[in-house]
Amino acid sequence: MPHPSKFLVLLLALLALTVIACESRSDEPLDGEISAITTTYPLTYMAQRIGGDRIAVTQLVKPGVEAHDFEPAPSDVLAISTSNLFVYNHPALEAWALNAASASASGSEASLMTIQTINLESAGEDHGGQAVDDSNFDAHVWLNPLKAQDQASRILAALVSLDPDGAKTFIRNADALNVELRAMDEIISDQLSGCALDSVVVSHLAFGHMAERYGFGQIGLAGLSPEFESGPAQIATVIDRINELGIQHILQEPIVSNRLAETVSAETGAELLVLHPLEVRTKAEADVGSDYFDIMKENAESLRKALQCG
Ligand SMILES: [Zn+2]
Repeated sequence: MPHPSKFLVLLLALLALTVIACESRSDEPLDGEISAITTTYPLTYMAQRIGGDRIAVTQLVKPGVEAHDFEPAPSDVLAISTSNLFVYNHPALEAWALNAASASASGSEASLMTIQTINLESAGEDHGGQAVDDSNFDAHVWLNPLKAQDQASRILAALVSLDPDGAKTFIRNADALNVELRAMDEIISDQLSGCALDSVVVSHLAFGHMAERYGFGQIGLAGLSPEFESGPAQIATVIDRINELGIQHILQEPIVSNRLAETVSAETGAELLVLHPLEVRTKAEADVGSDYFDIMKENAESLRKALQCG
């Protein structure tokens, strides 16, 4: 008779494997399909758009899960090891990615291609104007649709090299995606013209690449990662800035706790609006099939209100 707690652990592990097996059934690659593992939603969306029906994509960070806190489970490493392609953003967001990829590669007989979709040169200077390194780099580049194009082009290159017969299809799909990303950039630029304010208060400093592109400043209730919450002195400074600048909205992301935002709202009378860092979708968004462009349009609308534009 095994020790009850060990037995429980074993049972839970088996249950977890069963759940994973059920959830991923729809993503099982068919014969000849590229099997890809992505970390976050924008990468999933781009891989699906470009790969079309020649790819099966499984996203590791599930809807509603905070991406900065994510650590891969052994089953995730196993999933990577049995795939053809592993796609992540940058070690500043997925510090675990390279280790997981090398553990997966050593445990698998098939060849695994791993791609990092952001490099520091193409992503440009950090919005703080500091020297860019892995520790203070803002990895949320997909929030600027023109920088998302760089990520898409890296995914395209990987797919072409894994499946040369699909090259024409992939290039056509990537072209269509690029046209939409350019149009999205124009929509946001239009929405954010003629604004009364030039700063927004955000739940975490995820919006540096948008701020740089569309010409506004972000004041964070937390840092580059939501778990690094500010202390009372920093919150008092944020409250002062809100009052000084006449800011009337606090832009709160949907997945992390809004406790701090509620507190600051109660102090200042500023209203909460949703601004989505789009690391992963909420469960509700995934259920109704809201995609990258739907959510970016909502983001543009929230920013237009918060900056008092047009
Ligand atoms: Zn983030």
